[in-house]
Amino acid sequence: MKERLQKVMSNCGVASRRASEQLILAGKVRVNGVVVRELGTKVDLDKDMILVDGKRLEAEKKRYFLFNKPKGVITTASDDQGRETVMDYFKKVPERIYPVGRLDQNTEGLLLMTNDGELANILMHPSKLVDKTYEVKIKSRIADTVLQQLADGVELEDGMTAPAIVCYNGYDVHTGITNVEITIHEGRNRQVRRMFEHFGLQVYNLRRVQYAFLTLSGVKRGAYRRLTPEEIAELY
Ligand code: URA
Repeated sequence: MKERLQKVMSNCGVASRRASEQLILAGKVRVNGVVVRELGTKVDLDKDMILVDGKRLEAEKKRYFLFNKPKGVITTASDDQGRETVMDYFKKVPERIYPVGRLDQNTEGLLLMTNDGELANILMHPSKLVDKTYEVKIKSRIADTVLQQLADGVELEDGMTAPAIVCYNGYDVHTGITNVEITIHEGRNRQVRRMFEHFGLQVYNLRRVQYAFLTLSGVKRGAYRRLTPEEIAELY
């Protein structure tokens, strides 16, 4: 399949698409022996011989990881304030992987990491309706009417939330903490926290425990595992 040269380069892990464009403009890229400086050039990785700085471009192996993100870690590729990011946990992985969606800095739990842009786009597309389950801890009791409203939909600044599955897991009289599990398929910014804040409830701990059919089972905080070929096929 023919695709734009800079897209093929970034898919192969050479550099970002923007940086790949710079390499093309700088005359560092040859296609079938000819230097190409046109950003619109279309190529087929299987048929064309593409050299970047004299090195043959080859398809990067696709990687898929299930990561248990600890609290305090930022879901970005890099942070200009030097804070710890999810990438710090994947230093041994040579491919240019990135997170599928994001979790807030203070949210812990399941985060997929991959270099498969096609799968990432499918999973993040709103029409895909991937179920995500969060374990929510709040430092107060919660009324049944609130649980029902969380399930039915909450009017937030950016509109009504879609129906959710809400499961009350009890109130601990010793700690004063209520445990609730909520499953949503939307992925709005700080959605779960904002849904609870709508009722004046501050989320004290938030953990994503399930993404589609994937759970954190066997993956310790700060650790990751590879997805199996069957799991990858099921996500597509
Ligand atoms: N909802 C939130 O409020 N935060 C997250 O990180 C994920 C979902």
